Amino acid sequence: MSTWVVGKIIEVKRWTDKLFSLIVQAPVNTFIAGQFTRIGICVNSMIMQRAYSYLNAPNSPNLEFYIATVLEGKFTPLLRDLRSGDTIMLTKEAYGHFILDEIPSCKNLWMLASGTGIGPYLSILEDHNERLNQFSNIVLVHAVRFYKNLNYLSRMKKLKNIYSSKLRVQTIISQEELSGSLFGRIPTLIENNSLEKKVGLNLDVSNSHVMLCGNPQMISDTKEVLKKKYGMKDHMRRNPGHITQERYW
Ligand SMILES: Cc1cc2nc3c(=O)[nH]c(=O)nc-3n(C[C@H](O)[C@H](O)[C@H](O)COP(=O)(O)OP(=O)(O)OC[C@H]3O[C@@H](n4cnc5c(N)ncnc54)[C@H](O)[C@@H]3O)c2cc1C
Repeated sequence: MSTWVVGKIIEVKRWTDKLFSLIVQAPVNTFIAGQFTRIGICVNSMIMQRAYSYLNAPNSPNLEFYIATVLEGKFTPLLRDLRSGDTIMLTKEAYGHFILDEIPSCKNLWMLASGTGIGPYLSILEDHNERLNQFSNIVLVHAVRFYKNLNYLSRMKKLKNIYSSKLRVQTIISQEELSGSLFGRIPTLIENNSLEKKVGLNLDVSNSHVMLCGNPQMISDTKEVLKKKYGMKDHMRRNPGHITQERYW
């Protein structure tokens, strides 16, 4: 049974008609960057709940969640209508293994995100955990449909300034062309070498680990390319590999 705590919404950032971020204060337990909590809302005396990744670093005073409204969904249309001052419920404990402790040491860490899947990577990178020292290079890739969906680009650029040459930041847009961004989808851009060329780093089974977060179709298509093209395999504690994933649905 989960222990629920009450969270107070401090701010709702409405980025687009579908994308929003909740800034929340709540007495949750300390989490590990990359983990998620469950957000609950009372509907007809029952708690309706869904999983959301922490986007903020664990030592941040406010909790932050980056959320996409699913118009036909049961939960997000209710969540989207909340305002600052409203309350939600959150599980006191955090969950999940999409964390640096689970990633084997290697030279190049690739963090590939689609949509709101950028959240855990920002939490991990803003945490500045010493475990990041085990990687020589980190590639942060955010794939979205339109430029207006790159709502955390300024935070990504700030991280680039902090980590300097250790961190490469690359945006991908699938529905419009924009200078500096790659055009297309993550799996295709890996398959035709465009992503490697653009970031100036090779994906190599001998020195790379790939984290994938967000849309399950992006994850399965990307895994297929990584497996076929580079001979990578899923990473498990007892059977180490090169791919770690967090599927959002
Ligand atoms: C570990 C974990 C962490 C997650 N973290 C986040 C997060 O940080 N931000 C976030 O936005 N979501 C996140 N999710 C997804 C979230 O838990 C919900 O599934 C999502 O918000 C949809 O809820 P809903 O009730 O509105 O839709 P539902 O009624 O649950 O789903 C309706 C259908 O919509 C589709 N769907 C679900 N999510 C999406 C989506 N994001 N985009 C398009 N279609 C979708 C699915 O096909 C689903 O069957 C996470 C999921 C998991 C498992």
